[in-house]
Amino acid sequence: MDDSPGTDRETDRYAAARERMVKKQLARRKIVNPYVLEAMRTVPRHLFVPSEYRHMAYEDGPLSIGSRQTISQPYVVALMTELLALNPTDRVLEIGVGSGYQTAVLAELVQEVVGIERINVLANQARERLSSLGYENITVIKADGTLGYPSAAPYDGILVAAAAPSVPQPLVDQLAEGGRLVIPVGTSVNQVIQRVRRKEDQIHVEKLIPVRFVPLIGEHGFSNDAY
Ligand code: SAH
Repeated sequence: MDDSPGTDRETDRYAAARERMVKKQLARRKIVNPYVLEAMRTVPRHLFVPSEYRHMAYEDGPLSIGSRQTISQPYVVALMTELLALNPTDRVLEIGVGSGYQTAVLAELVQEVVGIERINVLANQARERLSSLGYENITVIKADGTLGYPSAAPYDGILVAAAAPSVPQPLVDQLAEGGRLVIPVGTSVNQVIQRVRRKEDQIHVEKLIPVRFVPLIGEHGFSNDAY
């Protein structure tokens, strides 16, 4: 039987793997937002990992994507997306596009996503991949995301997919009224996901779950010399 890339049989096999991922890794761990679960069921994660890891794309962990970076564990992608409490009309900024997988999940849920990536090859690959998958509501920019992206601000949601030593002030400044920022904060090895909310010009911070991300490198992040 023909099981090569692009065949119906292969498509079915990956769809079944996604369904299992949603049930076992997400629903069982209390991801409840039906729109988030549907987005995770839809985005073809196997097309965001290097071809040699394709058979592992729906496993319960991060994978290497080259340039010493990783595509996050599916559960962490779903959790951070759920924490953003998104609405369909929202505009979202993502820092650390990497493979573009998280970017695609966000684009399934909101009107517009601006994604920032500091490594040129990753930014270019993600841009091509997302456009070949037909996403028209995503802009990928190569820049230092610790500065945010002021020209398209403010944002209803900001998701940072790399670990910061502290919450970069430019990101807080670029949150819309009622906006949510989800970011791992800590050392290079231990971090906690924080959710920062702007409400009537007050900033609320919640410290949620321990995680481990690659470092956020830039002006308001870790310095490049350390890595
Ligand atoms: N969401 C991605 C995660 C990639 S890992 C995925 O699921 O594939 C984190 C990414 O953050 C890396 O690609 C890294 O290059 C990028 N990054 C680190 N510091 C950054 C910065 N200051 N601005 C933009 N991207 C940054």
